[in-house]
Parts: sequence; structure tokens; C-alpha cells
Amino acid sequence: MVNNNPWDRAVEQLKESAQKINLDKNLLKRLSQPEKIIQVNLPIKMDNGKTQTFKGFRVQHNNLLGPYKGGIRYHQGVNLDEIKALSFWMTMKNAVIDVPFGGGKGGIIVDPKHLSERELEELTRLFAKKLYKDIGPKKDVPAPDVNTNPRIMGWFEDEYSKIAGKYTPAVVTGKPIEMGGSEGRKEATGLGGVYALLAVLKQIHKSPKGMTVAIQGFGNVGRYIGKFLQEQGFKIVALTDSKGSIYVPQGVPDIEQVELCKEEKGFIAECYCVGSVCDLRHKQQMGGKDISPQDALELPVDILIPAALENVITKNNAHKIRAKIVVEMANGPTTISADKILKEKGILVIPDILSNSGGVAVSYFEWYQNLHMEKWSKEEVFKKLKEKMEKATGDVLKIQKEHNITLREAAYLLALQRIKKKFQTTS
Ligand code: NAD
Repeated sequence: MVNNNPWDRAVEQLKESAQKINLDKNLLKRLSQPEKIIQVNLPIKMDNGKTQTFKGFRVQHNNLLGPYKGGIRYHQGVNLDEIKALSFWMTMKNAVIDVPFGGGKGGIIVDPKHLSERELEELTRLFAKKLYKDIGPKKDVPAPDVNTNPRIMGWFEDEYSKIAGKYTPAVVTGKPIEMGGSEGRKEATGLGGVYALLAVLKQIHKSPKGMTVAIQGFGNVGRYIGKFLQEQGFKIVALTDSKGSIYVPQGVPDIEQVELCKEEKGFIAECYCVGSVCDLRHKQQMGGKDISPQDALELPVDILIPAALENVITKNNAHKIRAKIVVEMANGPTTISADKILKEKGILVIPDILSNSGGVAVSYFEWYQNLHMEKWSKEEVFKKLKEKMEKATGDVLKIQKEHNITLREAAYLLALQRIKKKFQTTS
């Protein structure tokens, strides 16, 4: 039975695609379960002197193509099935973008907004310590995800290096530049999404100029895709975060000002910016309108970008989506039943395992630079990212045309074909 459980959905997606390419039964069996699930208790001393125990997970789904690779998220809603699904999607994504990694994912059940800086650092260091034996540059390489950032990755790297007794930057990606991070990593997922979208628009002979865009989520991914789309001439009309939204049908004038405002205020709802002054009082003057973060998904725009969490487009709202194109920047934002509705409505969906793969592409570049003691410029990183995204999008579009299927189906076929090839040469 298909429900909104992300792991059930992942297995369903796998089975459907496996059938289409007659996937070897042994390989299907292998991909239907993660190779290893690590669960740890993380007791830390809180600032009030009491001990609180958090639960952490690392799921290693598959390493046929290389070391396990995938982010770590800190969120109160984290659960094992979610992390299992995310690890499976990493296996698929890494195959689509064609980097030498398998799939993994991790998380801690915690709302980091309720932790002090010291508590957050202690929690992260303890997590690195408990995972020490199972991770490493050639084994499993974590990265940032929801509510984790370069600073957290820096603590992770430092703790691992301390235990290993040697500086080991390649154990984790998404680090601060001064700790071995790559130029361009923080922009990579958003920018990669832009390259994928532009490649698809080119294929269907559509110009980006003036196309309207609504973005759900204004974190690392949402803010950069917004900024780069605006630079390309798209008109960003709606932005949301977990606390509220702004909607300006004429277009938000300057995303970078909104970003500065959100950094200062901590939420987006008052970020109606005229020049560098952001204030709710500008709302009327700018023609701003009230919408809930949920409404943002249903606006009459050309492009909808879910860039927050999974399961936001469901059978309950899919028929209300009015966008012509959905660019999935979050992982797993669309449930299977919603996906079917979007297909019936003729909405073009650029699937997560393609559109948000720019992050892991630059994580690969970071890992490579660390292992080879190289330092690439931001221009070099962006150039290589563009090439990777255009190649992967081209590969997916080719399969889509050949088989007359959706882009999601094509991306899964491409991933499984690549994994199958490796499986055949190694088994
Ligand atoms: P983040 O923590 O930086 O930002 C998440 C944003 O979503 C925040 O602005 C938060 O306020 C917002 N949000 C949460 N719940 C919301 C809701 N109900 N409505 C509207 N906004 C809501 O996380 P991120 O790194 O930007 O990741 C976002 C998504 O992209 C996740 O699904 C993640 O797995 C995926 N992703 C991230 C990367 C990466 O490199 N960071 C790479 C690939 C995929």
C-alpha cells in the first residue's frame, strides 16, 4: 500500500523503475533495504545542568558506486523511515549526477533552535564520536542538510580529525572554506537547480525572461535558487519560510535584501524591502498580499519551487497547483499520488534527484580537492557544476524522449542503469 511514509514511497519508486528495465532480482533486493542502519543515543549536558538524551541515525543505503554520501539533518521531525528514504534518494541522485558515491543520510531528532551554541557543538561532536568507526573519506562522507551548516560540519571534521590523530578534511563536505571547504558549496544546490531548469526550458523552447516563480523555504537552498533565478530574469513573486511568507505579484525587487532582512529579523514575513529598507509598512506600496506558506504552493505562477521539507505536495493539494513547472529542490516534496495528479494535469516536474543534485556535485568537488590537496576558484567550481548539471539533465531528457515518460521516471531509469552496470561488473 502506498502512503505518505517516505520509505514506502522510495521502495515503490524503486520497484516501478526496476520493472521497466528488468532489473536483476538480486540487485533489486539489495537496493530494497539499506546496507546498514546506525542508531545512537546522544546524552549531553544542557546549560541548565541537566542531561538530555537525543537520538541520532545514520543510514548507509548502498555503496556500489562509491563511499556512502549524504547530508545530516537536525530536526524535531526526523525519524528512521525518513532517513532511510533520504539515503535511498541519495543513491539514486549520486548515480544521476554521476559522482563516484553511494547513498547515505543521517539525522538527529532535535530542534536546534532550542539549543545554545555550546549545546549544539557538544551534540555534534558526540555524534561524530559515535559514528567514528562507520564514517571516513573512503567509507561514508556526511554533509549539511536541513538545519545543519558549514559551522556544524567544521565541528564534525574537527572531532573526527582529533580521534583519527590526523587532519582529515575529506571526512565531511560543506565545511567552512578555512577548514578545507570548497568555494561555491553553499550556492551549489540552488545554482545547480537553475542550470537544470534552464536546460529543460531550452529543450522546450521557453525563455526565462519574466517567468513568475514561487519558492517555499528560504534556507540555504531557497535563498540561492531565488537569487540566481532573479539574476537570470525570472520574476520571484512569493517566498516563504516556516513562520510566514511574502507575496508581491509584481515581483520581489531584490532577493539579496530579503536575505539580509531574514538574517536580521530571523523570519521572512516582514521583509518587504524597498532599497535596503525592509519593513511590513512597505507591503501596501509594493502591492503585497497576505498568503499562508501553504497558499504559496497554489499561486498562479509559471514555476513552483518547493525548497523546504518532504511531503508538501500531496493528493490534498496537488489538484490546486497552478504552476506549469515544479522544480523539486527539497528532497521528496511530492507524494506518489500527488505526482500522478500533476502528471494528469500536464505539469512538468523536474525531480529532486536531478534538480537538487548540484549540492552533492560540489560536495564531490570538495572531497576531491581535499584528497588531492587542491584549491579551486569559485569560477572553476561553477563552470564544472554547470557542465555536470547540463550533462545529467541532457541524459535524463534523452531517456524521457526515448521512452515517452516523465522526467522523474527517466531520472530513476538513468540511475538504475548506471548502478546495474556497476553491479554487473563487480558481481
Ligand atoms: P535549511 O534548513 O537551510 O532551510 C529550510 C527552510 O525551509 C527554512 O527557511 C525553513 O524556515 C523553511 N521551512 C520549514 N518548514 C517550512 C514550511 N512548512 N513552509 C515553508 N517553509 C518551511 O535547509 P536547506 O539546506 O535549504 O534544505 C532544504 C531542502 O533541500 C531539504 O529538503 C533538503 O533535504 C534539500 N536539499 C538540501 C541540500 C543542501 O545542499 N543544503 C542539497 C540537496 C537537497
